[in-house]
Amino acid sequence: MKKFLIIFLALLTLSGCAPREEKASETIFCMDTVMDIQIWGQDAQTALKQVKTLLQELEATWSANDGKSFLAALNRGEVKPNAEQQALLDRAEELSRYTGGAFDPKLLSLMQLWGFASEIYHVPDEAEIKKVMKDGRWDLGALIKGYAAERIVQLLEPLKVSRAVMNLGGNVQTYGNKPDGTAWRVAIQNPNGGDPVGMVSVEGSEAVVTSGNYQRYFIGDDGKRYHHILDPQTGAPADNELSSVTVLCADGAKADALSTALFVMGLEKGSAFWRQNPGFEVVFVTQTGEVYATEGVNLSHCEFEVLSRED
Ligand code: AMP
Ligand code: MG
Repeated sequence: MKKFLIIFLALLTLSGCAPREEKASETIFCMDTVMDIQIWGQDAQTALKQVKTLLQELEATWSANDGKSFLAALNRGEVKPNAEQQALLDRAEELSRYTGGAFDPKLLSLMQLWGFASEIYHVPDEAEIKKVMKDGRWDLGALIKGYAAERIVQLLEPLKVSRAVMNLGGNVQTYGNKPDGTAWRVAIQNPNGGDPVGMVSVEGSEAVVTSGNYQRYFIGDDGKRYHHILDPQTGAPADNELSSVTVLCADGAKADALSTALFVMGLEKGSAFWRQNPGFEVVFVTQTGEVYATEGVNLSHCEFEVLSRED
């Protein structure tokens, strides 16, 4: 009896000391998109506050369209990057080389020419495209949300956060494991609306990033849809069989740059690129609704064709 009492008291003391876990969540508008953040941990509210501050700082630094940002000043030739800023610019150039130029972080003038910045849309002719094509003004729109997710993970690591999940406008980032040991399940949006295409399961910290022709677009006078992912070779929206590409990768900025680049490459070149390069997995969705998933993806709730390394 005495022994039981001691064990009971010991358990009571332990549970009394166990830190209480709280959940903090918020939906904010930042970087031109809606962001949903959920954090669990001992001091989740403080962590959430820090995450929001970081997102706002990154937006103020890297927005291509806010004239007051560091990037806008850099594009005007008024400032020099500090070491941290230079590291991100170098990384963007490196990802551009890695993807054979399909990811191009210097397409701002083209994006403005098509009217994606002002939302006063215009279908330019070849001469107009040629004129601005190589003027080299930075636009990190295809990478910055993934980079932000990566920085958030670094910020959470020393804090008493047990797990977190956030959707930064199509960039989902998970952090930590669920207490019941089950995987995070991330829905892949249906490019045509309605139920998700399927669900991918991921464990621990992973970026799940989608680029699609349905995210930002306009319909021209010719009835054609012109979307916001440009093929750097033509200066026009990438025109292939895809409607979305989802990339799964531990590295957020790389996942983001790759989702854009693989969209530009199309299904055939994109899957060949995956076969040649380790470290990430992909789900391609075509305009006719077929789904292709590389062999490392844990995809459920949909029918799909598996792409294997040996094909
Ligand atoms: P994402 O939604 O990540 O695919 O990024 C699309 C955004 O990146 C666009 O809104 C542009 O600001 C920019 N962008 C468009 N085409 C490209 C490209 N081929 N490479 C890099 N950035 C691009
Ligand atoms: Mg991207």
